[in-house]
Amino acid sequence: MTELVSLGRAVRRVFPSGDTQRVALDTADFDIEMNESIALVGPSGSGKTTLLHLLAGLDAPSSGQLTWPALGPKEALRPRKVAVAFQGPTLLPALTVIENVALPLLLMGKPEDESLQAAGELLARFELGDLPNKFPDQISGGQSQRAGLARALITRPRLVLLDEPTGQQDHSTAARVLGSLLELLDETGAAAVVATHDESIVARFPRRWSLDGGHLFAEERIRCSA
Ligand code: ADP
Ligand code: MG
Repeated sequence: MTELVSLGRAVRRVFPSGDTQRVALDTADFDIEMNESIALVGPSGSGKTTLLHLLAGLDAPSSGQLTWPALGPKEALRPRKVAVAFQGPTLLPALTVIENVALPLLLMGKPEDESLQAAGELLARFELGDLPNKFPDQISGGQSQRAGLARALITRPRLVLLDEPTGQQDHSTAARVLGSLLELLDETGAAAVVATHDESIVARFPRRWSLDGGHLFAEERIRCSA
């Protein structure tokens, strides 16, 4: 019997909007198994980021139950068990690329040489092997985004939550970045929920969740018997 990485029942999130309320996520039911990769699709404003924040334990439902049976209480999720890479620039400007990627390990108390070595290996996998000592303002938006991904994955989290992880990559780079990501998820047995607009990315995920105006449609799993 597999323990679930996350389990949501009637999860609802509303935000105040003037005198009324805006329903960002409407009574969603879902579960995430170990090593399951899910593409999260839906138009702008449909609730994707809201759901990712809830899954990361960075926000709480207005009503309903959200738990992480295989990971423990919400307070224990970060930084080690759940990792997030959200849209927009997130690298610390005063640190080099490799220091940024190594940071979660250093904060967890890992020795510096081990942390930098692990960071260097991940940089190479995300095609950043030749710029470890650059500062964030010396690299492109696409390169920063890949460094953000490497930083999210360095702790070998059990649940990885990514918001448009290839939004700043050209088409062929996006395909390779996704290949590296799926490979790493497989190696570490992590589960992932990846919000994306890119249909060529969605097609490479075994499972899809669609959001429309806060309504979540969690597609049935495709079971492979091979
Ligand atoms: P998506 O990521 O799919 O574009 P979001 O989850 O960001 O969608 O937003 C879903 C809805 O919730 C939108 O109508 C948005 O305006 C609203 N919303 C999201 N976050 C907040 C917030 N912090 N305060 C008020 N409204 C919010
Ligand atoms: Mg969003």
